[in-house]
Amino acid sequence: MIVSRKAAKLSPYVPGEQPGQPGLYIKLNTNESPFPPSPAVEDALKTYRWDELRLYPDPSSRSLRRCIAHHYNLKEEQVFAGNGSDEVLSFAWYAFFDPENGPLLFPQHTYSFYPVYSDFYQQPYRRIPLAEDFGIDIGAFIEAMSAPYAGVIFPNPNAPTGMALSLEEIERILEASRGKKLVIVDEAYVDFGCDSAIPLIDRYSNLLVVHTCSKSRSLAGLRVGYALGAQELIETLTAVKDSFNSYPLDRLSQKIAEIAIQDEAYYARVRKNTIEIRDWFSASISRDGWQVLPSKANFIFARRPGIAGADIYGDLKDKGFLVRHFSIPGIEDFIRITIGTDKDMEKLYCLLKELYHSEKDCGEA
Ligand SMILES: *Cc1c(COP(=O)(O)O)cnc(C)c1O
Repeated sequence: MIVSRKAAKLSPYVPGEQPGQPGLYIKLNTNESPFPPSPAVEDALKTYRWDELRLYPDPSSRSLRRCIAHHYNLKEEQVFAGNGSDEVLSFAWYAFFDPENGPLLFPQHTYSFYPVYSDFYQQPYRRIPLAEDFGIDIGAFIEAMSAPYAGVIFPNPNAPTGMALSLEEIERILEASRGKKLVIVDEAYVDFGCDSAIPLIDRYSNLLVVHTCSKSRSLAGLRVGYALGAQELIETLTAVKDSFNSYPLDRLSQKIAEIAIQDEAYYARVRKNTIEIRDWFSASISRDGWQVLPSKANFIFARRPGIAGADIYGDLKDKGFLVRHFSIPGIEDFIRITIGTDKDMEKLYCLLKELYHSEKDCGEA
């Protein structure tokens, strides 16, 4: 057989649909930003010295890492940059988790790449059930950490629920780890209104915080992610990177990401806008009988009691809206809706009324 036994056994991550034809759907299914990147990015692309592309990029992305370090008040040696945070996470699995130490712990319902990486690296894992309100159950994590385990990872806010932990709750997990196993906080959505664990890095040398430019910096197409943590953690990630692909970030990505990180004023406005639309949309559909989990992300997770999630997904797709649905017991009646522009969300709000609330008419938005 040509295919390796390892490859034959893979069960890959399934990303949200990317329709081939742009404009066919209003795309609210993969948590991309509906707003463009900073205007400074456009300017930089227009004047980019394209002849530089004949040269290899800086393998260690030093200028970008210095810029990120400066932004978060850290040292360059505390920053690792990779080709999307997915790649950074994959390196972290290789760098820090050993199967013989026990299972990796993550929440029952969470980013569905975690079980995929675990299988890829043959790392056993244990899913910790969510609390009744769908929040991450800190007590259950701490209890699980009293038995052997390989490490802990969770997104904050969690995906696909959008619910956030407080810094105090994250510290309880770090205390329970007693510095012995890696704790990863995946902060892909942290900029949309929850507290970052970055200030804890100096006190906990086993904390790795992972960020992406894909969501709050409107650069999903660029593929830049980064990890922040103690220098020794970053050195280990770098050794893994240099054993796999020493140039994961191309010249253009390093440069554009750096420009985006520096334009704090623009992105602060975009975040504020997203948060306002999210909170307006959540409150509006709640009044119409939807259950909406309290979100600190650029998406919401919602269900309409009495209507199957798969049906809602299908109804919306027929009407030109792509949202995300997971056929997973426990959350199968929820749909995850990325926050789009105010116009798109007003249209969706009216459509939901039309579809599931026939006695009321939304009128022209
Ligand atoms: C989107 C997302 C990522 C991946 O981001 P990229 O940088 O685009 O690879 C990682 N973790 C979570 C929880 C995400 O939602």
